[in-house]
Amino acid sequence: MKTFILDFIYILSAFSFVFGIKQLGKPSTARRGNLIAAIGMTASILGTIFLNDTVMLKNYPWIFGALIIGTIVGTLMAKRVQMTQMPQMVSFFNGMGGACAALISIVEYDHYLHHADSASATRVVILLLGLVIGTVSFSGSMIAFGKLEEKIKDIHVPAQQVVNMVVLLSIVALIVGMASGFLTNPDFIYLILGLSVVYGLLFVFPIGGADMPVVISLLNSFTGVATAFGGFLYDNKVMLFGGILVGSAGTLLTVVMCRAMNRSLTNVLLGNFGGVAAAGPAKTVTGLIKEVNASDAAILMKYSKKVIVVPGYGLAVAQAQHVCHELESYLEGEGVDVKYAIHPVAGRMPGHMNILLAESNVSYDKLVEMEAVNPEFKITDVVLVVGANDVVNPAAKNDPTSPIYGMPILDVEDAANVIVMKRSMRSGYAGIENELFYSPKTRMLFGDAKKMMTELVNELKAAE
Ligand code: NDP
Repeated sequence: MKTFILDFIYILSAFSFVFGIKQLGKPSTARRGNLIAAIGMTASILGTIFLNDTVMLKNYPWIFGALIIGTIVGTLMAKRVQMTQMPQMVSFFNGMGGACAALISIVEYDHYLHHADSASATRVVILLLGLVIGTVSFSGSMIAFGKLEEKIKDIHVPAQQVVNMVVLLSIVALIVGMASGFLTNPDFIYLILGLSVVYGLLFVFPIGGADMPVVISLLNSFTGVATAFGGFLYDNKVMLFGGILVGSAGTLLTVVMCRAMNRSLTNVLLGNFGGVAAAGPAKTVTGLIKEVNASDAAILMKYSKKVIVVPGYGLAVAQAQHVCHELESYLEGEGVDVKYAIHPVAGRMPGHMNILLAESNVSYDKLVEMEAVNPEFKITDVVLVVGANDVVNPAAKNDPTSPIYGMPILDVEDAANVIVMKRSMRSGYAGIENELFYSPKTRMLFGDAKKMMTELVNELKAAE
């Protein structure tokens, strides 16, 4: 009976994970989705602890002690984290997941040694793969965390690819040796552990700090795979299912991010943005820059029918989301139709702009994804670009030599007027010039996004 109830809980939990992920797809249902999946996870954990007939658990104080400490630490961290520090937090939690998967392998290897009747080469391979992938995910995630915190710089080891390959092949050779019974000393598992830590470090050290979101997503999929190996070991279906789900979701997200940047994964991992070397030097942009002051920009928007705001990384840096919402409310009060155009890789992590704007209570139906909003620019009076650069760079469409050529962008130059709010003429993440800034339709509103947004709001208030 107990087994039947446990299996039933596992099935319900599996449904809750899938349903929860589906709900994460929309800002309006994301919170509920997260809660549903968390309830499913709690049910599986409690079910495994109390209803598992195969293992009689005796160490409840340890289990519940760890659960309570983990819950308190996790809740405090989640409550205190700033929205701009979210990628660090994801990286840290992902590293912890990898470490758990690796610890499971170490503990289970000890069990395996003392119950030699359950020995099989397949079991050893599963065990060691879980150890390697979990450890790489842990050490890689910790470096990614350090880089995002700007505590660790990019480090290039001489002949990096060769060193990586030697470490990887050594790990494979040790796994084959142990699984085949050729290497009989059980302590080799610690050599595999050490080499996996080194591989994780070498893997992430050279990657540019701004590419970290892609790497974190990839490491996330590694943790999922390592967990799935744990599911095999314990013959635990919900662990296997959860691991596969995380592994595939992480892989898909990595692919989607690379595609949205029009880059290959190899290109990201080798830290070579857009294959500049292969494409040759990008076109130099020349022309006249027209500036606008906050007063004229505010009047132009006030007398428009339709304004589209394009948020980018600079909005996040300046923390201008709240005053941006204030500007939107004022313009709406004047009868202007205001929307936000959301590019899939605006900012530095997927959904960065959605999260920021949701934080400042912008209504979800005002956020329009790139494909849906692009045709609307033709009928827009003013586009206000706030701290965005690469995601509105027309070179992606009309300069084959550009490193971002082929990346889908927001067609802001189709609008009647474009106002670009940024501090200087400096480039964005891709490090290239933007001909949009020189277009006859464009006016530059130079300054920090929060400061300039506040000025715009003050001008609108004064004009009432
Ligand atoms: P960009 O990095 O292209 O440009 C941001 C602009 O913001 C800069 O040109 C900068 O100009 C301006 N800025 C910085 N601080 C401020 C401030 N305080 N006030 C006003 N402006 C400011 O950002 P986008 O969002 O347009 O593009 C994102 C880029 O990041 C893309 O190339 C994408 O491929 C990449 N990327 C995105 C990931 C994701 O998942 N979202 C993951 C990895 C990479 P200035 O210094 O003159 O102010």
